[in-house]
Amino acid sequence: MDTEDKEILKLYLNKHNFIILPTNNGLYYEPTYERVERALKNFNGSYALALEIQKLYDFYEKKIAFEKCIQLANRMWSYAHPYFPNKVAWHEGCQGWFEIWKEVKTNIFFIECSECSLQFNHPEDIGSSETSEIARDLSVFPTVNEIKDHGWYKYITHT
Ligand SMILES: [Zn+2]
Repeated sequence: MDTEDKEILKLYLNKHNFIILPTNNGLYYEPTYERVERALKNFNGSYALALEIQKLYDFYEKKIAFEKCIQLANRMWSYAHPYFPNKVAWHEGCQGWFEIWKEVKTNIFFIECSECSLQFNHPEDIGSSETSEIARDLSVFPTVNEIKDHGWYKYITHT
């Protein structure tokens, strides 16, 4: 990550978190969508981004829970990927996308609707009454390779 990208990341984090990181020019502005997207192009999945966010706060000796870094990373990831790259189906009922997620603590993959948060254990369960019995805990957007290794890449819809 180059210096300018890091500044963009900090500005974006400052906008979304009460722990303010020092920035080079001291000017507050909201990074454009294009700029945030460009700063994030090297991150594959939101877990890698959460690690970078944690590193940034550590560098400035600011205490932040890793859970919070993951929440920030997921929000940023969604902002930089507005077309839902991990989507597998449209949720007709609520106009949301069912997306592939990975629970951090267990590495379990599951499906969740972007709007209503309805969860399924497997893409093939969507539309059935087989909703997930367990509400998943803290989760991330997995990488393309992780999705491929898990055998779920074929379910992704590229529309
Ligand atoms: Zn929904």
